[in-house]
Amino acid sequence: MSIIYLDWAATAPPDPETIEEYARVAAGTYGNPSSEHMAGRAARELLQSARARSARLLGARPEQVIFTSCGTESNNIVLLSLLLRKRTGSVIISGIEHPSVYEPARLLAEMGFTVRFVPAERNGIVSPERLIQAVDDATLLVALMYVNNETGAIQPVSEVAALLAETERRGGRPIHLHCDCVQALGKMPVDCGALGVDSASFSGHKLGAPRGCGLLYLKRPLAPLYRGGGQELDLRPGTENLPAICATALAIERHASLGAAGARARDSAAGLKRLLIERIRSIEEHRFIPEEVESVPDRYSPFILNVAFPPMPGEVLVRLLSDRGYAISTGSACSTRKQKHLRVLSAMGVDHDLAFSAIRISIGYTTSRADIEAFCAELARAVASLPAAARR
Ligand code: PLP
Repeated sequence: MSIIYLDWAATAPPDPETIEEYARVAAGTYGNPSSEHMAGRAARELLQSARARSARLLGARPEQVIFTSCGTESNNIVLLSLLLRKRTGSVIISGIEHPSVYEPARLLAEMGFTVRFVPAERNGIVSPERLIQAVDDATLLVALMYVNNETGAIQPVSEVAALLAETERRGGRPIHLHCDCVQALGKMPVDCGALGVDSASFSGHKLGAPRGCGLLYLKRPLAPLYRGGGQELDLRPGTENLPAICATALAIERHASLGAAGARARDSAAGLKRLLIERIRSIEEHRFIPEEVESVPDRYSPFILNVAFPPMPGEVLVRLLSDRGYAISTGSACSTRKQKHLRVLSAMGVDHDLAFSAIRISIGYTTSRADIEAFCAELARAVASLPAAARR
């Protein structure tokens, strides 16, 4: 059965060019970048080139970019580096963060830090003022993601950076601002320097690279949590996964253009999302989450749409559509199995029953109008056909 894949926020289908790059580097440049001989030198040159090319597209200097194994590791490195500091102080986290920020924050709380979770407004967007109000004299770190992985809500990161800079000036001490950019890269312009953050995380597989490579932007080096051979500024020691790193650099070049090509891709996604919304509007009982995706679409990523058909459980709809060849999801793929996927929608005031019915449809650079039309027709049939027994 052929698949119509609409779960790009979980992972992107492999881009054949990045897979080729992976295989080419794995077979041809197998030296360890730390080795002194010619095979090591060849690997080191590829590593430096991948870093320089990625940095240029992220608005960073090469020495500000380190390669990790995934977005989760990038987020953990930043948050858990606080464990090397004194165990007092406060950490401010938005309530809609991905588990890879939320869970290390909970660990920090267990280790003695004061952790405050600031909920989003009903439109899925965190108020910069509310976030800054949670900052106190002991605050060490604030984390706010750029694009929410469940609703696509674009967060006011540069506004928070500006307010935080003012707070820092008044308090006379630095406060680290971390931004999870995993769902932003390739979907909207991301310029780390211009964004005003101290650190940002990224993930290659969301852009069509094979698994195994994330990136971490660090304005200034952090105290290292891991110890080892000193690779990646000592922050992520371990022999570099060069094939995945080179494939990720290529994926960033192909899909994260800050210029005209990137703008065209975003316009095309915005057109597909409009079509999706238009078709779903004619299905009874639909509820967009949040409702504002219809009235202020520019505040949401064109690549993600969250909708519910209450009282139908989202999970039932996902399984039914999967049986018919369509891949979508309920909340974040990382948390569905843990049954924790209602946390993010609850943190923006969505009531439990509606959150329980939510599904996430996410598109990417190969999604076509025909895919959307076929999916919406099947979705309408699925919603209409579900027997009463399957409804709660
Ligand atoms: N942050 C966000 C917002 C995500 O959506 C994801 C993955 O779904 C991650 C972090 C984790 O990235 P990775 O799968 O590379 O660990």
